[in-house]
Amino acid sequence: MSFSPRVFLSPFLGIALALAACDSGPDQSSQANSAGHSAPTASTGKANQQVLEQRPFDNHSDFANARRGLIAQDPELMTEHLGGGEVWNMPDYDFVDAEGENAPASVNPSLWRQAALNNIHGLFKVTEGLYQIRGYDLANMSIIETDTGWILVDPLTARETASKAFLFAREHLGEKPVRAIIFTHSHIDHFGGVRGVLQHLSDAEQANLRIIAPAGFEDEATSENIIAGPAMTRRAMFMYGKRLRRDDRGHVGTGLGKGPAFGTFGFAAPTDVISETGTELIVDGVPLVFQMVSGSEAPSEFTFYLPERKAFCGAELVSRNLHNLYTLRGAKVRNARIWSGYIDEARRRFAEAEVYFASHHWPLWGRDNIQDFLVKQRDTYKFIHDQSVRMMNQGATPREIAENLQLPAALNEEFHNQGYYGTVSHNAKAVYQSYLGWFTANPSELNPLPEAESAKRYVAMMGGADKILDQARQDFEAASDMSATEGRDTYRWLGELLNHLVFADPDNNEAKALLADVYDQLGYQAESAPWRDFYLTGAYELRHGSPEEGIKPAMMREVLLHTPVSLFFDSMAVRLNADDAEGEAMTIKITFTDLQESYLLTLQNSVLHNRLTDADTPADATLMLTRPMFVDLLVGNAGLKELLFSDDIRFEGSKLDLLGFFSMLDKPEGRFNVVTP
Ligand SMILES: [Zn+2]
Repeated sequence: MSFSPRVFLSPFLGIALALAACDSGPDQSSQANSAGHSAPTASTGKANQQVLEQRPFDNHSDFANARRGLIAQDPELMTEHLGGGEVWNMPDYDFVDAEGENAPASVNPSLWRQAALNNIHGLFKVTEGLYQIRGYDLANMSIIETDTGWILVDPLTARETASKAFLFAREHLGEKPVRAIIFTHSHIDHFGGVRGVLQHLSDAEQANLRIIAPAGFEDEATSENIIAGPAMTRRAMFMYGKRLRRDDRGHVGTGLGKGPAFGTFGFAAPTDVISETGTELIVDGVPLVFQMVSGSEAPSEFTFYLPERKAFCGAELVSRNLHNLYTLRGAKVRNARIWSGYIDEARRRFAEAEVYFASHHWPLWGRDNIQDFLVKQRDTYKFIHDQSVRMMNQGATPREIAENLQLPAALNEEFHNQGYYGTVSHNAKAVYQSYLGWFTANPSELNPLPEAESAKRYVAMMGGADKILDQARQDFEAASDMSATEGRDTYRWLGELLNHLVFADPDNNEAKALLADVYDQLGYQAESAPWRDFYLTGAYELRHGSPEEGIKPAMMREVLLHTPVSLFFDSMAVRLNADDAEGEAMTIKITFTDLQESYLLTLQNSVLHNRLTDADTPADATLMLTRPMFVDLLVGNAGLKELLFSDDIRFEGSKLDLLGFFSMLDKPEGRFNVVTP
């Protein structure tokens, strides 16, 4: 391991910043920045300082790999939203130093390093005939040269960012026809930008274009966010720090990349669906071998291998961080046992690989390096699975498992196993959840009072809000001078305690302010970007309230146009307001004039059913419209009343029944409270 003067520089700066925080004296609030985020305390400084000894910061190979093969870079990389404003702004992240060594006391140095790595953007040559565009969006777009053109892999999240990335590649690599697009998996950061590429292709190119995707892609890609969408997108605002500023007391990245591009999402249906491991495809002279890994990181996913170039595309099966078994924005739990098994299969099947590249982060070169990486990723997921289950079978609760589970030294010494995105802690809870669910078998959890109710009783029993607040303030002040571990545990406890106070009385501004200060410290210490963003967004919302607006469902319009129609009705059923529907009974027929399909919706017992039916099935009211109009109705682009009076729509039966029916459906705004009741 070579000597590097930088190793000495960074702890020094870290100490200097921690001391600066100590100098501030007890009045932290006077140091709040303009968004209200308080200064890091001395014990937060100490905790972050300790991280420098816990991780192998003298290993710079990731930086060398992340920069290797740079062809071109746009230092002013910014992308405008089609509807105005910005989708992407890399210069916003220039506050992170290039080598990721000068972490301020308000950022965990390990996360800071990852943020610096994810700041390295541009067009890169990975190997002969293989390129990547990184840092134009949360994910990477890869380019494979074929006999006469290109295969594009994973065209980013948004039309805007994908278009920018594609044009940048053309500018520096020359204009080649696109022969195929590969979607490695069903998450939107890998297909949502497809229109941004298609818009630049000639009609002939589009007509002959192959779109290659794993089996189940179309259903999974268009349905993941339908049923629970409003809750997931609201929670995603926390997970990705959407409301936070990009600075040293705000969002520094997501661990997986910078941030998701909240632009214009699109979709294109696959022409080639891969369903079996070992499937070989030759695309414009280039052989590809696929491995199905559905049910690991995504419900529909494959990896693939380019035998001629000895290059393995790991999709998102593996990445340069620990991934999520449970993703905090809310999603179904993923299966760690199967996931680990797929990594082992990839390692053996593509054992000749000399280059690894993927949907996120930077590539890796050298057969031994790749094997070592795959073995350690494989073992990390399996370790978390097996040891969590072991403790679970001894009776440990999720909290206990999360507190005690630590990776063995050989796995923990790797940066790529660190919890920049998923964490060992919340992944251990996910393993428990996947087998045993929410209940720990302790009967006190069977039927407790709802949060605000029990909070009021805690507060009363503990002597009232003022007494609790006094004690909490003293503990908060004292925590600053504690050891890193004691300080952090005090912040964790105060977070729980003050949350009771806020839930007992959401108008208690002093309690909210102190809880926000506590969340700031927990955020500053977090190695995981989503943890940081959850804590700091929590602090932000305690100070500034919930957002005025949720994320608009109209963003998803084009994806929804490809959603199976019956799912729309399932998503309507979960919006039925049961109180309004009490005692109501009716049948509504929806006829899609473009699809020539009719669905009968039946409302009874405050439940809404749907089934495909004949066009002449009788109903109390019938609505005849096209699928795009129906989608506009669902996403709020068009109101029912205006549609009923337009010429594009026909109806039969009772107009009042129709209006009455639609008025019983909630219109979730996606801006509900999280840190207050
Ligand atoms: Zn992704």
